[in-house]
Amino acid sequence: MRNGGHEYDYNPIKTDVLIVGAGAAGLRAAIELAREGVDVLVLGKRRHGDAHTVWAAGGINASLGNLDPDDRWEIHAADTIGEGHFVNDPRAVEILAREAPERILELRDWGCPFSLTEDGELNQRYFGAQSFRRTCFAGDRTGEAMLGTLVAKAREEGVRYREDVYVTKLLKSGGRVNGAAGFDMKSGRKLLFGARAVVLAAGGYTSIYRRGSSRPDENNGDAMALAYEAGAALKDMEFVQFHPTGMIEPEGMEGRLVTEAVRGEGGRLYNARGERFMECYSPEHMELDARDVVARANYREIREGRGTPDGAVLLDISHRDPGYVRERLPNMVEQFAEQGVDITREPMKVSPTAHYGMGGIEVDPRTGATAVEGLYAVGESAAGVHGANRLGGNSLAETVVFGKILGSHLADVLDDLLPPVPLDECAAREHFAALDVLAAGRGSGGRDPEELIDELRDLLWDHAGIVRTGDGLRKGIEKLCDLKGRAGELGLLDVPVNQGLERIFNLRAMLVAAEAVMRGALAREESRGAHHREDFPEEAEAWRKNILCAWIEVGGMHLWTEPVGEVPAAIQKALDEDYSLNYHYLE
Ligand SMILES: Cc1cc2nc3c(=O)[nH]c(=O)nc-3n(C[C@H](O)[C@H](O)[C@H](O)COP(=O)(O)OP(=O)(O)OC[C@H]3O[C@@H](n4cnc5c(N)ncnc54)[C@H](O)[C@@H]3O)c2cc1C
Repeated sequence: MRNGGHEYDYNPIKTDVLIVGAGAAGLRAAIELAREGVDVLVLGKRRHGDAHTVWAAGGINASLGNLDPDDRWEIHAADTIGEGHFVNDPRAVEILAREAPERILELRDWGCPFSLTEDGELNQRYFGAQSFRRTCFAGDRTGEAMLGTLVAKAREEGVRYREDVYVTKLLKSGGRVNGAAGFDMKSGRKLLFGARAVVLAAGGYTSIYRRGSSRPDENNGDAMALAYEAGAALKDMEFVQFHPTGMIEPEGMEGRLVTEAVRGEGGRLYNARGERFMECYSPEHMELDARDVVARANYREIREGRGTPDGAVLLDISHRDPGYVRERLPNMVEQFAEQGVDITREPMKVSPTAHYGMGGIEVDPRTGATAVEGLYAVGESAAGVHGANRLGGNSLAETVVFGKILGSHLADVLDDLLPPVPLDECAAREHFAALDVLAAGRGSGGRDPEELIDELRDLLWDHAGIVRTGDGLRKGIEKLCDLKGRAGELGLLDVPVNQGLERIFNLRAMLVAAEAVMRGALAREESRGAHHREDFPEEAEAWRKNILCAWIEVGGMHLWTEPVGEVPAAIQKALDEDYSLNYHYLE
């Protein structure tokens, strides 16, 4: 069918459950649904097997106790809550810590090539702020190994998949989400999907920062923007984790992650004077203290002039045997060799980089349901598990633990709670007409979305970065409002329609995520975990609560707070026992 000269499908592509996102979380949910006989369609922006998950390097947590038999799920949970500074959803933490071992053994049984001990058990390494060696790994290509395994399993279970799709809007009928609209990223053709339930597994939002560890054009906050526009709440968006070690060069690779596994395998941080400065910031935990502590230490060394002239500190693993380094960190060896640096012999220049948004869509962790009927979220898109700061290795665990839970819950309730309802084709038509208007403006001037994206990223880095102040945030919000105004005058310029639309919708998603981060950061008048306010440097008991936001017709973004749930007794006991890693075991 044609409309105003632009082709699109009025006949929706139908499925029972539509999953937006083909990373580990989306695929694990899809596998569970397919095994229960539910028809499921997974959409991704890239080709099958190429989601952001493949960049995950260092590992996945589970208290298997293969190397440290004293480890237990309760201690994993206590580490997670301690590191999350007590604003995590305790229900989510308990589920994660209890179920991670089973999910990881399942991945092994499905063929995931995890590194093994000499006894054939899954090997486990140290990761920051964890009491025991609990992080399972496949060299430093853990995400790639996991996603490859999940893709093969999904194929075996008959999961349908569609590549190169950009979902731009969720559709609702009678208050219930039951479809989505978008376009094909290769052809620009518009697409309409009908479903009984929609799952957002579309990743995170750290690409809103100038320097970040994400792939270009991913993690723009699509999931948060789609959910927000559909009426769901976002939670704790101000908590953004800055990883201590990102690359600083070459151009185009600034911010690229230098995995925590380097420090887990004994890597040491030095300033340009040759001082091992973590001795001043954290003499007990040293380089393996929590990410926020190490990131702020690196930031301070650089800001106070003790970094290298090009703004870095030095991460060195050359004291370890070169063969060991090559075996445990093959990806890092390769990544730096391409830049002419041999990490088995010389240090790496690193500085902090935006890495993970702990905030996201508010869900019930027992089901994955949002407050909007028919809408679910999982993986990095969802909030709750990580609180104010994420333990490295917990997000890969989150994808498979909550993917499985969501899949089996949806399979159970689909028939009773979510019978099919007709799509609101009017809303779809309106949305497609808006895309046509954007396409019609092609070549006729208007602002280039890429310019505004660059401006937005600078703004977030400068006003809502590693260290924040009330004044800085207020100024940042003013600039953001101005930028939002200018984003109303976008043009597709001279790029093909599909590319132009991608840029425009990237920017639109980033604007929602950016506003939620900045407003949450301004409201939270304390420092907690990854959120550091120079004007409120202490953690405040009164702020031990979550900040939520949702869109309201009058007034736009509305913020409110909610109390945090009670920590279950078993986890509280482990917290009271106060386990912690003594870094010097590693020496
Ligand atoms: C460099 C790096 C290293 C990391 N290392 C680790 C680690 O060692 N351990 C650990 O636990 N965690 C690690 N993480 C975090 C972890 O990789 C992620 O949190 C996790 O992989 C997220 O998986 P996901 O399935 O939720 O989303 P993703 O893997 O990000 O997948 C999102 C999917 O959604 C699709 N999508 C997005 N928007 C749309 C849209 N509008 N329409 C259609 N499709 C869309 C994408 O194409 C993609 O298929 C790392 C992260 C980075 C950046």
